[in-house]
Amino acid sequence: MNSVPERRDDTPALIAQSVSKTFGETVAVREASFEVERGEIVALLGPSGCGKSTTLRVLAGFERPDGGAVKINGEVVVDESTWRPPEHRRIGMVPQDFALFPHLSVGENVGFGLPDGQRAWWTRQLRRLRHVEAPARVREMLELVGLDGFAERFPHELSGGEAQRVALARALAPQPAAVLLDEPFSNLDQNLRASLRLAMRSILKAADTAAVFVTHDREEALSLADRVAVMRLGRIEQIGTPDEIYYRPQTRFIGTFVGDANILPGRRLRSGAETELGYVILANPPADDAGDSFDILLRPEQLALKPTTHDDPERATVMSSEYYGHDQVVRVRLRSGAEVETRLRTEVVWHPDDPVTVVVLDDAIALPR
Ligand code: ADP
Repeated sequence: MNSVPERRDDTPALIAQSVSKTFGETVAVREASFEVERGEIVALLGPSGCGKSTTLRVLAGFERPDGGAVKINGEVVVDESTWRPPEHRRIGMVPQDFALFPHLSVGENVGFGLPDGQRAWWTRQLRRLRHVEAPARVREMLELVGLDGFAERFPHELSGGEAQRVALARALAPQPAAVLLDEPFSNLDQNLRASLRLAMRSILKAADTAAVFVTHDREEALSLADRVAVMRLGRIEQIGTPDEIYYRPQTRFIGTFVGDANILPGRRLRSGAETELGYVILANPPADDAGDSFDILLRPEQLALKPTTHDDPERATVMSSEYYGHDQVVRVRLRSGAEVETRLRTEVVWHPDDPVTVVVLDDAIALPR
């Protein structure tokens, strides 16, 4: 069977069209559609059980969807009448546990997916003589992931971060149309994750391949991806840039899942809304037929506090404050009893019982009820 062709013109590297997958009674994925361009990194973000891994497995060809289609470099790899197995899809996979072959060296691991001739040649050479130079593509990949000089090490001699990079080099070596990464940071030390995210992003950008990764960690998705597809109950609820997802969530679930959120009732007033925090401008004024009452969302960093006096009838009251150095999170009780969370710089340190006025710094987001 022929493999998927090289990419032509400006066709997206990867297209999922209305992909659905059911296991018995469970609808794991419902009509998921998205496209990934070459050189683009897309995150599938959502809580556990929302269908992220199943979507990834359908793309890779480890699961057959019940409906929909997947195209790679413009070619259908699965639909109701087509089936290409994983090895003919030009997909590179980085499993959650990296799944390096323990009995193969780093170089042999990276060379594993290369065309058979090249691999067999090298394995033969290795058997004869340990210190043979790795094939050019293997050396190039190890250099790309910052592990040149590691070709003869074995997986048990690697740190978690290094093993991740070997798995990535192995996935990229055969020049796939897309790489798929399943929870790529879940097996790594919490302290390492932030720096490894940046390294992963620059490796994927340098490789200029399409990438899709699965995560339930909002920070990971927002910091690593060019676009984030937020999934819930098998559906993609919204797909957009990190900024769109964070500041223009289209649903209440997304608003609260991708970041800390204050949600308050609002009443339509001109192109904004009247709220307990006063009049707010809306970034997305609801359509006229959406009614006059809706909720508004403000992120903690979109609020500020001003001191006031205990006899100010409009005062709010500081409930608690957590000081982090670079910023502080201050919870405030409004007159109605509703609480809001603010994230502030630390030039003023707030204390419980301080009387304050809450100031809205930004446009608010209207949410459907
Ligand atoms: P996520 O990756 O977002 O945690 P999954 O795609 O693993 O979610 O699972 C989505 C849903 O499908 C869950 O309810 C899960 O229990 C179910 N599921 C996944 N794989 C199987 C399977 N092989 N057999 C039965 N149910 C499955």
